Amino acid sequence: MIFAANFKTNHTRSSTRAYMEQLAQTLASKRPEDRVLVFPPATALDRYDGDVTIGAQNAYPVHKGAVTGEIGLEQLEEFGIKTILIGHSERRELLGESQETVAKKFAFFKENGFEIVYCIGEPLEVREAGDDAVKTYLFAEFEGIDLSYEKLIVAYEPIWAIGTGRSAESEEIAATHGLLRTKLSCPLLYGGSVKPANISEIAAIGNVDGVLVGSAALDVESFSEMILK
Ligand code: PEP
Repeated sequence: MIFAANFKTNHTRSSTRAYMEQLAQTLASKRPEDRVLVFPPATALDRYDGDVTIGAQNAYPVHKGAVTGEIGLEQLEEFGIKTILIGHSERRELLGESQETVAKKFAFFKENGFEIVYCIGEPLEVREAGDDAVKTYLFAEFEGIDLSYEKLIVAYEPIWAIGTGRSAESEEIAATHGLLRTKLSCPLLYGGSVKPANISEIAAIGNVDGVLVGSAALDVESFSEMILK
């Protein structure tokens, strides 16, 4: 299983350090075949001890240059960061990242050998419109994306389940991951209100190779509980 924690705009540099120090104890007793990834805010990118991969939540597809407010490859290289989240629904929706922008980012970080956690997910009105609408929507989020990239991980995160406390039903996750599996051979994560109370059920679903966790991973004890369950 892959356990990925997305801090979003939470935690400071100092609270991330304290978190990572405590997480190191969990990592020492995790199952060796499991992987743990943490995506702290950009201000807390650093090197941390333990069997953990630190990733960037976002970066601009440039080595360095005149892009006010963004970070590029040079800032990631300083801390040996080689993993990035691309396509998160909050960036697509709140920050207006188009599929074209997302695809450009993907191509750039692929070219630079990054492991890419590529996020897709449909809004509620699409889910309510039925299976065909979900399929069309999700597959459109693969436009311009090299699905055969060997360092690709896909995270399916229905938007209506993110930060709402309402996870998708197991049957919905199973059906959607089954659909995605027809196109993908890479690891497939589920994200959307994953927490200690539902991790075992979600982890047992076919074609679920891991989870991407927001809210319930902000507390290190809660994230640790999921990893060790
Ligand atoms: C996310 O946005 O990546 C996420 C899964 O959030 P949450 O766990 O809070 O639903």
